[in-house]
Amino acid sequence: MNLGLSPNPYDTIIVGCGLAGATLSWQLHWAGKKILVVNSTLNNSASVAAAGVISERSGKRHTKSWRWDSLWPIAQQFYRRVEMESGRGLLSEIEHLRFVDRQLENVSVSEDLTISSSRQYENEAFYTALAKKHRSGHAIKHDSAILDVTAYLDATIAMIRQHHRYLPIPLDYADLTFTDNAVHLATKDLRAQHIVFCEGWHGQNNPWFQELIFESARGEALTLKCRELPPTFIYYGEITVSPIGDGYFYVGATYDRSDLSSGPTEIGKSALLRQFKALFNVEFEICGHVAGVRPVVKGRLPIIKQHPAFGHCWVFNGLASRGCLQAPYFSNLLASNLCKQYPVSDTGAETQLSSDIDDFPTITHTSRLTTAAHKIIKASVSAGDYAIDATAGNGNDTLLLARCTAPEGKVYAFDIQDSAITRTTDRLTQANVENVSLLKLDHGNMLTAIPSALHGKISVAMFNLGYLPGGDLNVTTTSRTSVSAVDIALRLLKAKGVCSILCYRGHHGGEEETQSLRHFLRSLPKHTYLVQQHLAHNTTVDSPVLFIVRKLKRSTQSEFQGNAD
Ligand code: SAH
Repeated sequence: MNLGLSPNPYDTIIVGCGLAGATLSWQLHWAGKKILVVNSTLNNSASVAAAGVISERSGKRHTKSWRWDSLWPIAQQFYRRVEMESGRGLLSEIEHLRFVDRQLENVSVSEDLTISSSRQYENEAFYTALAKKHRSGHAIKHDSAILDVTAYLDATIAMIRQHHRYLPIPLDYADLTFTDNAVHLATKDLRAQHIVFCEGWHGQNNPWFQELIFESARGEALTLKCRELPPTFIYYGEITVSPIGDGYFYVGATYDRSDLSSGPTEIGKSALLRQFKALFNVEFEICGHVAGVRPVVKGRLPIIKQHPAFGHCWVFNGLASRGCLQAPYFSNLLASNLCKQYPVSDTGAETQLSSDIDDFPTITHTSRLTTAAHKIIKASVSAGDYAIDATAGNGNDTLLLARCTAPEGKVYAFDIQDSAITRTTDRLTQANVENVSLLKLDHGNMLTAIPSALHGKISVAMFNLGYLPGGDLNVTTTSRTSVSAVDIALRLLKAKGVCSILCYRGHHGGEEETQSLRHFLRSLPKHTYLVQQHLAHNTTVDSPVLFIVRKLKRSTQSEFQGNAD
């Protein structure tokens, strides 16, 4: 159908700007897309009452959050980037204190920590009293963070208003028409290539995705001002008590599946106060009381779905209690599909994407990929660490690694070309750097060239493939050797170690090498390695690709001996 209208001014219309819509907005913004966000400011969306807690353990049984090891580094990187671009502090990493009932089988005893015997607590007497009061007297402490959800959404809306278009109105479903290649918002005469419904629990009324079954739950939360409570931990008992700065605490949330539409209630308030008082005997003042609805979709996993008939109509929903942790990864998956650069899917979640090609989450950059690689690597290496530069070349990466690991740490740098060895030596001498072992060796020999005492202890490894700029263009890395060298480097990494692989597709053999590496990275065990692909903003088929591989846990002995996991 041709409505005779102007071309699409927008790539994507996003309906709803809670956690899902906001996170997708950033991903599409970074991918260089033009978006229109339609957001009615209905006040009982989930984000209103969200604690913003991102936590390694959750629920009464303290089970590890679903895909924590892979989702957390992605979430961290995502929110830090938003902080950098918006100039606002959003994510505070803070320890989480959970009271443990020893009867529960799922709690590993090695993680237990007796509050009263721990020296690192500043307010020891306070915690001892608190622990005694609790039936078990024990607590476990683990990684956790708080996202200031309100500030995050404000920062997102500011970004949208500045670079895209923001319509603070409710969307009338009847106002939308779909053509073969566009969606049309009639009253405003606006067109876009795609529409994504990120409506939270309001999605239950969406006529295009009636098959989603919502089991949403309303939650109420209080803001308390309390001077006596130390602001250094998130407490978790029956309720979550998390510090939000300046002596204020979030206390929430109730769980009610029967009455979704009501706002804050007296019953909810007294239930929260009762639980709070059971936990702490402190003075406080009530400063706020809100209610919101968590959009729980049957199956309890995030939902990304494409409409079967209208390929440009999508839903992104189901980010409930763990939404802050999950949103960055899943929005990236969806954005990659909307950009059609690399259709991706994730069979672990309830996602139905346009292609079933299994690929990696994609991150796009406006800066050069060498800069992106340096930033990521820098964040993963510190003084005293051991590092590998598999392709010394002009010595840029070697120098970076040497500076990050100096003085006690060390870099093992490899190159097969005399001119590369000379250039790198000059570079290091000029910079007065000494902690490098520069080896004129094929990087395939890494395993024997690096002392066995350091196997499994390497923090980072960098590969910058292709030819030496300004050197012999016929000497390039190759498919066969690069794949096996990356394989060895990954085995040498410690847990939490990172390997960067910058592939160039433009030169002879470059595309083949990239494909072989992609194929190899896809075969890595997902519970041990997390792979991301980074692209420059205006990627074409022969632009470089940067793969970042994060090692989530250490290699087993059999992996060292060469058996794939
Ligand atoms: N990282 C460099 C650029 C590297 S260019 C910089 O920052 O400037 C790629 C380098 O890989 C070339 O210097 C080339 O000589 C080297 N190389 C090619 N095959 C190799 C192999 N099998 N082992 C080690 N180095 C290799």
